Amino acid sequence: MNIFKYFGEVFGAIRSLWAGMRVTGYYSIRPGKVVTQKYPENRKTLVIADRFKGEVIMTHDSNNQHTCNGCGICEMNCPNGSIEIISNKITNAEGKSERIIDKHIYHLSMCTFCGLCIKTCPSGSIKWGHDFEHAVFDRNKLTKVLNQPGSSIRKEIKEVKETKEA
Ligand code: SF4
Ligand code: SF4
Repeated sequence: MNIFKYFGEVFGAIRSLWAGMRVTGYYSIRPGKVVTQKYPENRKTLVIADRFKGEVIMTHDSNNQHTCNGCGICEMNCPNGSIEIISNKITNAEGKSERIIDKHIYHLSMCTFCGLCIKTCPSGSIKWGHDFEHAVFDRNKLTKVLNQPGSSIRKEIKEVKETKEA
């Protein structure tokens, strides 16, 4: 091996070791600046940025109502089949046939966080949630039903839908 190349590589290794040791030294005398060491004890006080994409969730108001009418646009636009909309046809109080959402299924394990479903939902029913602790022993737990148990569609949204269907 060329002697200059040999000493060049030795010098490069020492320089890289020095750079790493400088970072280690900096944080070892300033423990307050190490943000990761506080997790998970600081779970409740963690500040998550608004733009953080943890998972897709459906918004519900205090009356457990959402605005999802089961149109299926999010399902159609999802590039990898992470969303399944299951809807039912019922006969409403006026005797009209009406389609209502049964389950808005979201496969977190297949989601690539592209955001197309959220962007294209005409009623803004889904958004990014901030939960990031998704480690599970059973991958079935990564399949979620986004409409909460016992929830229903908000009255005004239902009326708009009925007008369109009439
Ligand atoms: S974020 Fe993208 S991949 Fe994930 S469910 Fe929505 S459309 Fe599908
Ligand atoms: S979440 Fe939005 S796009 Fe998806 S089915 Fe509901 S209303 Fe339609």
